[in-house]
Amino acid sequence: MAETPAADGSGRSEGVGRTESTGRVESTERTASAESTERAEYEGVGVGTAAVAGPVARMGQAPPEPPDTPAAGDADDERAKAFAALAAVAADLRARGAAAGGDTADVLEAQAMMAEDPSLAEGVAARTADGKGAARAIHETFAEYREVLGGLGDYMAGRVADLGDIAARAVAVATGVPMPGLPPNEDPYILVAEDLAPADTALLDKNLVLALVTAEGGPTSHTAILARAMGIPAVVGAAGVLALTDGTPVLVDAAEGTVVAYPDDDELGAAVARSVASAAAATLSGPGRTGDGQAVKLLANIGGAADVPAALAAGAEGVGLFRTEFLYLGAEEPPTFEAQVRAYRAVFEAFGEGARVVVRTLDAGADKPLPFVPLGEEPNPALGVRGLRAFRAFDGRNEAVLRTQLLAIREAAGTEAAEVWVMAPMVDEAPEAEWFCDLAAACGLDVAGGRVGIMVETPSAALTAGAILAGRTGFASIGTNDLTQYTMAADRMLGALGTLQDPWHPAVLRLIGAAGSAGSAAGKPVGVCGEAAADPLLACVLVGLGVRSLSMAPSAIAEVRAALATRTLAECVAMAERACGAATAREARRAAAE
Ligand code: PEP
Ligand code: MG
Repeated sequence: MAETPAADGSGRSEGVGRTESTGRVESTERTASAESTERAEYEGVGVGTAAVAGPVARMGQAPPEPPDTPAAGDADDERAKAFAALAAVAADLRARGAAAGGDTADVLEAQAMMAEDPSLAEGVAARTADGKGAARAIHETFAEYREVLGGLGDYMAGRVADLGDIAARAVAVATGVPMPGLPPNEDPYILVAEDLAPADTALLDKNLVLALVTAEGGPTSHTAILARAMGIPAVVGAAGVLALTDGTPVLVDAAEGTVVAYPDDDELGAAVARSVASAAAATLSGPGRTGDGQAVKLLANIGGAADVPAALAAGAEGVGLFRTEFLYLGAEEPPTFEAQVRAYRAVFEAFGEGARVVVRTLDAGADKPLPFVPLGEEPNPALGVRGLRAFRAFDGRNEAVLRTQLLAIREAAGTEAAEVWVMAPMVDEAPEAEWFCDLAAACGLDVAGGRVGIMVETPSAALTAGAILAGRTGFASIGTNDLTQYTMAADRMLGALGTLQDPWHPAVLRLIGAAGSAGSAAGKPVGVCGEAAADPLLACVLVGLGVRSLSMAPSAIAEVRAALATRTLAECVAMAERACGAATAREARRAAAE
């Protein structure tokens, strides 16, 4: 795709749309005005490798606060209108729940019941009797309840958010604008949103949503991780895209990280042909290896047994990251030993003799708070007590939770053929790794056999990986999501910094190289289990940096397998050298692709 110079000369054009006809760089607001049919391009961070084209359908926005002006109709009419709006919201939530099924249906049923709550209806009726319009009466009544619930503490925080969502939907219906949330389109579309709440993402229909484009979010945001898991191509953190109007034809190129409105026929043809070619190349099967035979294990990232069928279908050679905290995110009490044994065994038994399953111990804190692992208030949780630290800090007050987990892993592994490895998240230095090895050994895990390891997620762990691996630590798995966050000092939760959260950055690559070299020197395996492993080109660079296993969302395995098969190890090393010598993430990508 043709590159147009960016405003800052960097090659990136965050927040600007570019018009082909004028060649000038103009503000997005201007280039993508409602009636414009000119080509405009936006850049963000791509998730996946496909290029797809289709019409835009925007996520419904929350309506503005209704004005506190006298009602247009009489009190009875306004009350009837408000009640009808609430009933329509309840019906819509139930219909969405029925379509999604499972836990989502339960959640949406609870929301529908809130919309029908008699005390809320009373509040609405009282306000319409006082001369307020339907929308204003709904807004005020729900706002009052939100305040009351908000005062009841953290536990009610979720309910407060739910009430806000229901009120926004009902106000939208009462004022005759589309409800916030997924568009009602029945034909395939490209979904454009500021960002997606997990509840919205869970409702995405893969047959309808051709691609996802968000203005917020970075490559490691939950939106990106979920999009990858669902196999939906996405471009996230693409500033300015909210100016795109419904129905605008766009080309979304996840490999390039671009969104083009009114693409010309040539670029459309070229992008889609490349995408089809790479999908066709991805029909290879079998274990991962470079073109000259260097084995590179292709493993799956999972959050529980429900993810295993997709991993097996993709030909995963095992599991490189079992995020155990995903099983217990909402739990108030620590999971029991027995419950954990069942949950882990359900995963282990799906993999046969010799297949590696790497279980990560609970990664508590920051973006993954676990109520049963109390950590206290922190001004900056990403730099606070999290990961392994959560079980060592506070004089070991949470240590029993980790001990129970290790015992449960040992018990579940004992009867299964799979080769169970265990690793700790957020380790900074050798003494922490040794502490973990001590505890794991005490719980009967195979430290001497090299099956107890650590994640490399901080620059300190990458730079001292030699010292860590010189001890009893058996392996290292690089978590590039956090490693990028800490290297770039860019919070992975902050969409505004999405472009800094790019694992292609040479600073991140050099740290990966340091860990890879430490692994080769120690004769101990080093893998990658962050999102970086799912990028086919970057996967080759990682192999060039000494990485020998790649763990990713199952949907990415085929393309990574295909990319490795087309390059020799020496070519991967040369790509890595070029990328590490670049100045920016963008240049590194280009240098590797040359
Ligand atoms: C990582 O940080 O790269 C990683 C794999 O762990 P998580 O994304 O769960 O923090
Ligand atoms: Mg991490």
